[in-house]
Amino acid sequence: MKKRKGIIVGGKKWIPTLQDWSWIITIVWMTAANFYHPIGLFGFVCMFTPIIIVLSGRGKMHCARICPRGSLIGKIGSLVNLGLKRPNLYAKKWFRPALWAIMMGSFAVMLIFVIPQGIDTLGFSVLIFMEVATVLAILNGVLFTPRQWCTICPMGYTSGNLRNLRNKLKNQSA
Ligand code: SF4
Repeated sequence: MKKRKGIIVGGKKWIPTLQDWSWIITIVWMTAANFYHPIGLFGFVCMFTPIIIVLSGRGKMHCARICPRGSLIGKIGSLVNLGLKRPNLYAKKWFRPALWAIMMGSFAVMLIFVIPQGIDTLGFSVLIFMEVATVLAILNGVLFTPRQWCTICPMGYTSGNLRNLRNKLKNQSA
């Protein structure tokens, strides 16, 4: 069942694309969080939204139609793009899981240390983590192709694996 215009895809409601403007969300929340650190906790929404969408059976619709960071790097990369060849490293099979483990591992360790320090520190730490990831994403977009980051992004990797696992379990139970 595939009927994008009819709003139903694979039996699930299709999410209209927000990619033309969702980059504004990244700019607004990061700017606001720099002034009021607890707003940095919105970073958790950015992290959990793709997972919730996958678990709802909509696959990687977050990446394709919502992701504010994806939208931002697409916009910046379409304005400034050097079009360099991507590093061979990116094509190695181990690279994506390794990057995932480094970024998710450091995020988890950071949480262990900052959660006891209260909302302000936690919000600021999440903000810094998301800002570092966004700078890396922008650099990739400017140096290589606009959405190059999406080929190695830990959140994209997580939602892709969850989607595959969900499909596998669904096929097994069918
Ligand atoms: S791969 Fe990452 S940055 Fe790209 S659209 Fe998906 S979640 Fe966003």
